[in-house]
Amino acid sequence: MTIRRLAALGAALVLTVGLSACTGGVSHAGGGAKLKVGIKFDEPGLGFKRGSTYAGLDVDVATYVAEQLGYRASDIQWVQAPSAQRETLISTGQVDLVVATYSITDQRKKKVSFAGPYFVAGQDLLVRSDDTSITGPESLTGKKLCSASGSTSAQKVKDKYSGVQLQEYQTYSECVAALVAGRVDAVTTDNAILAGYAAEPAYKGTLRVVGKAFSQERYGIGFRHGDVALCQKITTAITSMISSGAWQRAVDANLGPSGFRVDRTTNPPQPDPCPSESTSS
Ligand code: GLU
Repeated sequence: MTIRRLAALGAALVLTVGLSACTGGVSHAGGGAKLKVGIKFDEPGLGFKRGSTYAGLDVDVATYVAEQLGYRASDIQWVQAPSAQRETLISTGQVDLVVATYSITDQRKKKVSFAGPYFVAGQDLLVRSDDTSITGPESLTGKKLCSASGSTSAQKVKDKYSGVQLQEYQTYSECVAALVAGRVDAVTTDNAILAGYAAEPAYKGTLRVVGKAFSQERYGIGFRHGDVALCQKITTAITSMISSGAWQRAVDANLGPSGFRVDRTTNPPQPDPCPSESTSS
């Protein structure tokens, strides 16, 4: 690329950033405005980009919520939100919402706010089908494990299983490629995500999920810190998605194909109440 083209690109970027800064915030009213939603692009069944279409439970939840906020599906602009970038994407206004297998945690609540949960998953392990040596996190000592940086999955390993050699990539699909190539021995993140990879035609028979969840991951919708009015609107939308049957249809359509068994003791969840205006967390 020439210097001149780079400069033109830079100018275009400045223009885009400038423009989006003016529109900042979710209008709640629609009216032709775009809603920028951060999702995963590489998690089959949850958030997945194929060509110019987007599919998965997160996509369906985001679309339902957007419609309840007054937007049409066509008003949504999907933005890739890798695990480590979610808080920054929200706090810089590059996205209005994050619906990206995003666990609600106290640590993250210092920077962003959440509505939900709309789904509860659990951390698990993905291994090569013929590997019987890995039966759970305790059997990982001395093994090479891969996870995404900025995830609760990687953090849990660092906190609790320090004898494991942890390799962190930006995305889980990079971890899965390393597992298939034999460069790592296992991949860890939420069971629902891992089930999606194991069922991919390219990996079927090659990879399997261990199937012993060792955490609770409560998926929330993230947005600008302290926006209590938005929290209330999104919570109402999630509640109506569950009570109307749309949630169950979305779960069946997106997680059914991988054969993933949804934990009925934790799903569908009851969304947490929003904080009152004064506490603003
Ligand atoms: N739910 C976990 C998290 O929010 C792991 C999945 C992910 O990285 O998106 O960190």
